[in-house]
Amino acid sequence: MEIKWSASPNYREGRNGYSPIIIVNHITAGSFPGCLSWMCNTEAQGSAHFLVTKSGEIYQLVDENNTAWANGYIEGASVDLDLVLQGINPNYYSLSIEHEGQPGDTMPEEQYQATLWLHNYLINKYNIIIDNNHIIGHYRLDSVDRPNCPGSGFPWDRLFTDLTTQEVDKMLEQWQIDLGTKSVNELAQKGLIKNPEDAIKELADSIPAWKLYTLINRIYTK
Ligand SMILES: [Zn+2]
Repeated sequence: MEIKWSASPNYREGRNGYSPIIIVNHITAGSFPGCLSWMCNTEAQGSAHFLVTKSGEIYQLVDENNTAWANGYIEGASVDLDLVLQGINPNYYSLSIEHEGQPGDTMPEEQYQATLWLHNYLINKYNIIIDNNHIIGHYRLDSVDRPNCPGSGFPWDRLFTDLTTQEVDKMLEQWQIDLGTKSVNELAQKGLIKNPEDAIKELADSIPAWKLYTLINRIYTK
């Protein structure tokens, strides 16, 4: 997927020494493109790193190395995280994603696929932990003023299921490669294959299990 830039002036340079450790999801409560131009207007005094539209477009407004003004207040929080419990401004250690829509809306499939992709991208880039203390809604930081951000329509269950499944698939893929590499090296030591580097290279490219077994079978029957 493509991330389009629409720079907002509403940010603070740098992250005050913090790194991103949480993803905070929001709802615009307004339609695109108005919500984008508003967040790019200095009068708004607010922004987010990303905006995902209903049609599945992804806009980036603030560089991830900078602090977006998305969720700076903590009031009635329900996040079990030291930085939050200490009351440190969450903007410093969060990546914020706005979603076009109203709090009760059912998220269109295009928008869901785009935000799923964006979550995966950010999780891999920043090693964000996949749990409900690190991938949260704005209301989890401020349940007083933002109880409906992103609101009841946000697909939390589906998002966590899909993110976890993709994480498990990634682990299985690495496990297959590690196991296959070990087998290839053992076979090479026994003199059963001549070019272990080529075989390992082929293994590293092979993602589905059937390819790995095909390769091992091919080696064994040589
Ligand atoms: Zn919000």
